[in-house]
Amino acid sequence: MPSSKKKIRIGLVAHDNRKKDLLEWVDWNWKILSGHELICTGTTGTLIENLLKKKLKKDEKKVKLKKLKSGPLGGDQQLGAMIAEGKIDMLVFLWDPMMPQPHEVDVKALLRITVLYNLPTACNRASADYMISSSLMLTDYKPAVNNFSDYTKRKIDI
Ligand code: PGA
Repeated sequence: MPSSKKKIRIGLVAHDNRKKDLLEWVDWNWKILSGHELICTGTTGTLIENLLKKKLKKDEKKVKLKKLKSGPLGGDQQLGAMIAEGKIDMLVFLWDPMMPQPHEVDVKALLRITVLYNLPTACNRASADYMISSSLMLTDYKPAVNNFSDYTKRKIDI
C-alpha cells in the first residue's frame, strides 16, 4: 500500500567536481529528501547539512542526516558495508568521470556492491531525478536480492 510516511535511507556522495551538481539536486528536492534519512560521506554530508539548515529554518522540520568519514578516508567503504548489511535503500553517487581519484578502488568497490545487492543507484542527476520522482518511493518496494546460497554453500576442495 502506498504510504507517504515511509522513510527511505538514502546514501548521498559526490566527488569534489560533482558536489555543486549534487547540492543543486538536493536544493531542488529538499522537501522530499527531508522526509527521509540521509547517509552521506563526510564532506558531502557537511555541505548538505548546511544547505538543509538554511532551508529547514523556515519549516522547522528536522532531517535525519548521518555523516560517515570522508570518502577517501574510508567513507565509501563504510557506505559499502552498510549496503551489505541492508542499511541503505538507495544511493545517489555522483562520481567524477573526468578525474582520477586517490580512492579509485573504494569507488569501484562501492559500485560493485550496489550491483551485487540490486540497490537503486543513480550516478548522474537525470537518473537521480527519475529515482526521486518514482512512485515506488511511496510503496514498500524491496529490490529482489539473491540469497547467494549457491555461493556460500559451494564445495571447496581442500
Ligand atoms: P566526501 O567523499 O564527501 O568526503 O568528499 C566523497 C568521495 O570522494 O567519495
